[in-house]
Amino acid sequence: MLERIIQHLFSLHDYSYSYCEYYGCCQTAPCRYNKLLQKHHDGQLKFPQGLGRYVALYRADAILQIDALYRYDNSSKHGEYDQLIHPDETWWQSEKYIRSLVALVNRDFGFHRRFISRWVSNSDPTILSMEYYDFVKQPKINTRKILKHLFPDAQFGDAQIDRALEVEQPRIVNQMPQAVFEKVKQSLAQ
Ligand SMILES: [Zn+2]
Repeated sequence: MLERIIQHLFSLHDYSYSYCEYYGCCQTAPCRYNKLLQKHHDGQLKFPQGLGRYVALYRADAILQIDALYRYDNSSKHGEYDQLIHPDETWWQSEKYIRSLVALVNRDFGFHRRFISRWVSNSDPTILSMEYYDFVKQPKINTRKILKHLFPDAQFGDAQIDRALEVEQPRIVNQMPQAVFEKVKQSLAQ
C-alpha cells in the first residue's frame, strides 16, 4: 500500500524509484541492488537497525496483527488461497479458523510484544512507527509524516499527495468481523 503511494509520487517527479520486496529480490539488508525502498516483516526480530530510515507499520492489537500475518503466511498454501485473501463471513466464523488463530495468538503474543518494543517503543529517530488503522483512518496527515521522514529533501505538493491517495485509496482490507474478534478474545481468556 505505502510503496504504491510512494511510487505514484515519484513518478510525478524526476526521482528514480525502485522497490525491494526482500524475498523476491536480494534477501539482504540493506538491498544488495541499492533499491530505494525495502519491505520486510522482521519475523525473527533480527532485521538490522541503524542502516537508514525506517517506517514501522504495525497493528497495536495482537489478535489483529497475528491474524494478518497468519493469512499472509498461508495465502499460498493449503489450496485456501481465495478464502485467506478474500475471506467471507462463513470462513471468518469457521471453528477451524478460530481455533488456529487462538493457538497462534497464544504462541505469538510474546513475539508481538517484542516487535512493539523493538520498533514502536523505540526512541531511535530513524524509526517512524505508524499504526495501521491510524494510517488508514487519517491517510493524508500520516502520508505526509511518512514522506517527510523517509525523504526529507523531496518536494511533494499537497495536491500531488492528495491525488496519489485518491488513486491508491488506502483502506482496511479483510477486517475481522467484530463478533469473531470477540470470540477469539473470549477463547484466549479461558
Ligand atoms: Zn533487494
